[in-house]
Amino acid sequence: MESVVQAHDLVFRIFLEEDRINSRVKELGAELRTRYAGQTPVFLGVLNGSFMFTADLARAFSEDCEVSFIKLASYRGTQSSGDVATLIGLETDLRNRHVIIVEDIVDSGKTLQVLLQELRQLQPASLEIAALLQKPDMLEHPIHVAYVGFSIPPHFVIGYGLDYNGLGRQYAAIYQLAEDGTV
Ligand code: 5GP
Ligand code: MG
Repeated sequence: MESVVQAHDLVFRIFLEEDRINSRVKELGAELRTRYAGQTPVFLGVLNGSFMFTADLARAFSEDCEVSFIKLASYRGTQSSGDVATLIGLETDLRNRHVIIVEDIVDSGKTLQVLLQELRQLQPASLEIAALLQKPDMLEHPIHVAYVGFSIPPHFVIGYGLDYNGLGRQYAAIYQLAEDGTV
């Protein structure tokens, strides 16, 4: 595993190693398996960042479930643009279903607040959030994240699905922007 990676003009250093991520995702899967026993929940991955986490979480859950994806893009570069687009691509009927929104990372919480509002209107039986990462210091909106992989400091990260302007999603580990960022 590389300890330093580059995406475009920026340098990132190893922050969460593959083994740590995998064992934490397995723990979350086991927790969800207990909570949702016999309920065939719907894992609703938020593209693009959560594709890897959603796949691994569903495997870790390992019981009957559905997996579906939606899209709601909001980020450009390493700073939130503040704009949140509306939900697209939902193909599963969520009415009376137990739904787990699967997010890569919760920052201000704005994306999820908007998403929760939209999804509640579809009248699921229950609606919870599983996020691989959360930056608690950055939270501005009162959302509850029931399942959090890791609480992290407010630095920009890539890898395990997360990108910097399109690059870096393929890494099995998570990398943090180096203090002295540029090459
Ligand atoms: P929020 O709406 O909570 O402010 O932002 C959430 C979204 O911003 C995440 O789903 C993710 O796409 C993006 N984001 C926030 N922090 C980071 C980060 O450190 N790295 C990357 N790659 N994306 C981030
Ligand atoms: Mg996201």
